[in-house]
Amino acid sequence: MASRKNTKFIFVTGGVTSSLGKGIIAASLAKLLQSRGFSVTIQKLDPYINVDPGTLNPYEHGECFVTEDGAETDLDLGHYERFLNINTSQENNVTTGRIYYNVITKEREGAYLGKTVQVIPHITDEIKRNIYAVAEKNDYDIVITEIGGCVGDIESLPFIEAVRQVKWDVGPNNFLVINLTLIPYLKAAGELKTKPTQHAVKQLLESGIQPDILVCRTEHKLPQEIRKKLALFCNVNINSVIEAMDADSIYDVPLLMRKEKLDERVLAKLKLSHKVEPELTQWKNFLGKLKNPISDINIALVGKYIELPDAYKSITEAFIHAGTENETKVNVKWIHSEEINSENVKTLLENVHGVLVAPGFGERGIEGKIATIKFCREEKLPFFGICLGMQCAVVEFARNVLGLKDASSTEIEGKTKNPIIDLMQEQQSITQKGGTMRLGSYACELKKNTKAYQAYGKTKINERHRHRYEFNNRYLQDIEAAGMKATGINPKTGLVEIVEIPDHPWFVGTQFHPELKSTVLNPHPLFVRFVKASLEHKILSESN
Ligand code: GLN
Repeated sequence: MASRKNTKFIFVTGGVTSSLGKGIIAASLAKLLQSRGFSVTIQKLDPYINVDPGTLNPYEHGECFVTEDGAETDLDLGHYERFLNINTSQENNVTTGRIYYNVITKEREGAYLGKTVQVIPHITDEIKRNIYAVAEKNDYDIVITEIGGCVGDIESLPFIEAVRQVKWDVGPNNFLVINLTLIPYLKAAGELKTKPTQHAVKQLLESGIQPDILVCRTEHKLPQEIRKKLALFCNVNINSVIEAMDADSIYDVPLLMRKEKLDERVLAKLKLSHKVEPELTQWKNFLGKLKNPISDINIALVGKYIELPDAYKSITEAFIHAGTENETKVNVKWIHSEEINSENVKTLLENVHGVLVAPGFGERGIEGKIATIKFCREEKLPFFGICLGMQCAVVEFARNVLGLKDASSTEIEGKTKNPIIDLMQEQQSITQKGGTMRLGSYACELKKNTKAYQAYGKTKINERHRHRYEFNNRYLQDIEAAGMKATGINPKTGLVEIVEIPDHPWFVGTQFHPELKSTVLNPHPLFVRFVKASLEHKILSESN
């Protein structure tokens, strides 16, 4: 395989149960290594058969995170970007579906020259090719690859087998496995239990993999004797048993891992010099502000997937970043778009200082979103609409201000006489679902003297998209004459990317998804301004 002489490969596996937070541990380790001057990236291998998570319902798998290059990926990539302040791309998330898709495509092209195509070596070779491709893209010092699912699942076996082989490709000094595990506490016995971890590690050993480091999720501190026991039964050094206590915030985890010396263990095992001590001043400043807010506000998030907050992960994280920037705690009040209507909107939004209407697909909950937006517009309550939220704001305005009672989006009402939101020309003929939307980063030009320009402080921006429908420019003149302005335009296509109502304290809708670009070190300017406007609304309403 291709040369990769300098790169170190770290694999993060998980045992005992899912949802242990492998993504956060991987991102935290990457943060520590990055803060010591290494170039690091993270990749996630997902064991499901979907080619990407783009076709998955958010209830199944949480938010679909879109990268600059338009890849629809697992939400853990959002954590990687927010922690590391770097862009990821398609190579950073590979599913079993994509691996098989690539292999079968090659087979149909005759690339295997009459050979029987098998899991080993063809599928495992394709997995390894994808692992090495990430390393080669930017010549990284370290690539961390997170294996989705749990060790022992039938589905993840080819990934585990590929990991076993990587050690022989790259040599033992360039290879490390960290196994994340759970140490349950039995209340009745008053004891922490190591047995599930012993079994999980045995299972890994059966696949030929000896983990080098155990990261142990626990609700209680790990006493020395438990660490000793884990080391003995799982065949690792005692100082490679790392405690991962439940944390108040995911952003605490890098410092907790630093305290447990996870980064030092990793560097020692990979025979990497310690270079410099981690430079975490900015990170610590962020945590200081996060934990000591001066004020707090309530922001309503109106959406239809609120039963699973992971469906809006990037939005809630963007509020944490923007709140911290404003030294304000943002309490998110979740409101189901099917529950809110013109009768109860006033009550539901009592004590709410700003409203975000969420992205989404399909007609369910649309009328609730529109009723919410009407209230925000009329009552001058700060409003932020993202993607479908922006489209609903345009529909509401067309219906209630322009007087086009039947105005709608053709996604909701296919036969409407006033398709104010409509399919783009190039989308009309597409019949396939996966990967066919307007995806990834597009340029946008901002008009001066607008809320958007005030936030960004420049006219040329780039933001990420994931949608099929667009503002129908046939209505642009009328809409603008009635008081809603298109303040951000795609310079190539003329498509409307941002709408605002200037005669309102803060009413902004974006066709793109600003939440996808908010990171700890770069809170998104629109979120920062929206939080600020909501805070001002609170101060004003309390002084009245
Ligand atoms: N369903 C809308 C569209 O496809 C909005 C998508 C979204 O909110 N991401 O255009």
